[in-house]
Amino acid sequence: MKRIIDLSLTLYDGMPVFPSPFYPKVAVESIATYEKDGRSVQKLVFASHLGTHIDAPLHYIPDEKAIDEVPLDSLVGEPILIDLTHKKPSETITKKDLEAAEAEAIVLIHTGWVDEHWEKPDFYEYAPYLTKEAAEHLVSKRIRALGLDTLTDKDWVNWPIHKTLLGNNILIVEYLKNLAETKGKKVTFVALPLKIRGGDGSPARVIAIEK
Ligand SMILES: [Zn+2]
Repeated sequence: MKRIIDLSLTLYDGMPVFPSPFYPKVAVESIATYEKDGRSVQKLVFASHLGTHIDAPLHYIPDEKAIDEVPLDSLVGEPILIDLTHKKPSETITKKDLEAAEAEAIVLIHTGWVDEHWEKPDFYEYAPYLTKEAAEHLVSKRIRALGLDTLTDKDWVNWPIHKTLLGNNILIVEYLKNLAETKGKKVTFVALPLKIRGGDGSPARVIAIEK
């Protein structure tokens, strides 16, 4: 049996969301019950960018690809894992850190930040993040997707890293966990968003399958 490593965060009622004024509180609510309706049905309320999720280019770039249009071969494949677990809070991830990136690759940045700080008050504000040069380096290498377990951007007004990557059709898979378990192993990375017509992003179940 091939072992499957789950790289996804759990979604739940009241879970943490990005500190933005327009994000709703996450709700998982019962709308039908066994007693009254003979079955359980729930209503889910959340923004398109929640927990472990994928950004479509449309998230920042009008008229670009929506989440139902992104090529799935950019989200499935043998990844390049870059170990940056030595990064400290708020430290930058530089071009030099990402030298292992190759053309057509799915690049995974492993800092350990999600594993250690998810649900803690410092999670968003003190996460390590990419420099603009680091993002431009990934564009020049023509990678297919960037997955990471920290934040891309420190500038939450202009979002230069998101714009640089998505503006060049590099998909972003955010808030991965358990990346340490893939270290030193040959794995197939699989990140599948919901097929939401015209969606700008979607929560995703992300796994690594050991070869
Ligand atoms: Zn996002």
